[in-house]
Amino acid sequence: MLRAIPPIDDCLCAAEKIPSLTGLSRGYLRTLARREQDDIRAALASGQGDVPRDRAAMLELIARSIADKAAADQPAMKALVNATGVVLHTNLGRAILAESAIEALDIAARSSVNLEFDLARGARGERDELIGAELIDLTGAEAATVVNNNAAAVLIALNTLAEGREVIVSRGELIEIGGAFRIPDVMAKSGARLHEVGTTNRTHREDYARAIGPDTALILKVHPSNYRIVGFTSEVALDELVALGRKHGVPVMEDLGSGALIDLAAYGLPREPVVAERVAAGADLVTFSGDKLLGGPQAGLIVGQRGLIDRIRRNPLKRALRCDKLTLAALAATLRIYLRSGDPGTELPTLRILNRSIGEIRQAAGRARDILAERLGPGFTLEVVDCEAEIGSGAMPVERLESAAVRITHPEKSPETIAAIFRHARIIGRITNDAFHLDMRTIEDPAVLAVAFDCGAGEARG
Ligand SMILES: *Cc1c(COP(=O)(O)O)cnc(C)c1O
Repeated sequence: MLRAIPPIDDCLCAAEKIPSLTGLSRGYLRTLARREQDDIRAALASGQGDVPRDRAAMLELIARSIADKAAADQPAMKALVNATGVVLHTNLGRAILAESAIEALDIAARSSVNLEFDLARGARGERDELIGAELIDLTGAEAATVVNNNAAAVLIALNTLAEGREVIVSRGELIEIGGAFRIPDVMAKSGARLHEVGTTNRTHREDYARAIGPDTALILKVHPSNYRIVGFTSEVALDELVALGRKHGVPVMEDLGSGALIDLAAYGLPREPVVAERVAAGADLVTFSGDKLLGGPQAGLIVGQRGLIDRIRRNPLKRALRCDKLTLAALAATLRIYLRSGDPGTELPTLRILNRSIGEIRQAAGRARDILAERLGPGFTLEVVDCEAEIGSGAMPVERLESAAVRITHPEKSPETIAAIFRHARIIGRITNDAFHLDMRTIEDPAVLAVAFDCGAGEARG
């Protein structure tokens, strides 16, 4: 029976007659045809398959299977509905971009741009100029540059300023951010030597002062982002570190993690350090992420003293860590919102979602419950419950955002099974207290649930 499986070229000939397969490359069709032959072989070996006696019928069957395989072969990256209640979910791609950033991406993707081209002089330009003026205006710094992400910003800054020399960091700030960003490890990779001072809960000015020596290249302050030390604690404020650094001619850098360009207290959110305030307090360099609270694309922003920024730009690592035109287009558009918009909290999805009222979220949860009840069928219980969402990405780990969710249970189905049903529809919820929840904080329009569910069901039907 194995010998009755038609040769690959015959399978390809048959496949080429199927309209949905026209326009696909021969190499790709060959791959699918091989996979189909393997499937038939495996089925025969397990005693499940059967080979039709009629060769034409067999080829037609194979061709149709190849067409099914091509139709099922979807791009690996898929649009998802984030119902996890984590606004900036690193695993789900963090910030959703503003409309103007999406338009800027579209333009940059479709055409040539002045990425490194000075239009006025007709000469080679500097890609940092696309975001430099905005970042300087927004933060009050002398200069700015941008790299792939904040991890890269910390790496290149340490390497530029302190390779082969010492960097002083408080033991209370030797943090690990998810995804293997650890201050001691990044420090080692940068070629700088870590000089730890103080203790986990308390570090004093004197600890830093005693550590300064001829080999000291930098004092680093790190925002603890995703954890808090509470109780008997003390840390040295940035302005004190700056005074100490000035006295000894040692620059001070702060890794702000998320950082904010505006005071989020105006949006009813807990206070997060504002970059401009850290620059005003005297930090020589400040690094922060583009896709955390800022609400832009993945990027690492570095602002500070012109001399230091120039040295970072000349570091050969800059070439390896630089951003492409798409990132810069989206980032520049996002920064322009902060600079120009009278209402950034409405234009930026991240701020908009953080700022939603509990009343509005409860209402959305009610609509979501109705949409889903209609689609899930009998047996499921759907209730609107109050819950707590979080900002995510290490920003404000302790603070919670009040939120509402649709809690979905079934007498025979486990929460994991229900989660899998929703994942199939590309809706990602979370399991809390042994029940599946769709947190509505991150879903502005419940209609997306209907669309996702109907598409998912369509796919399941084949
Ligand atoms: C998030 C974070 C980083 C890493 O930033 P990415 O943009 O994710 O690379 C580094 N340091 C701190 C303090 C952070 O919070």
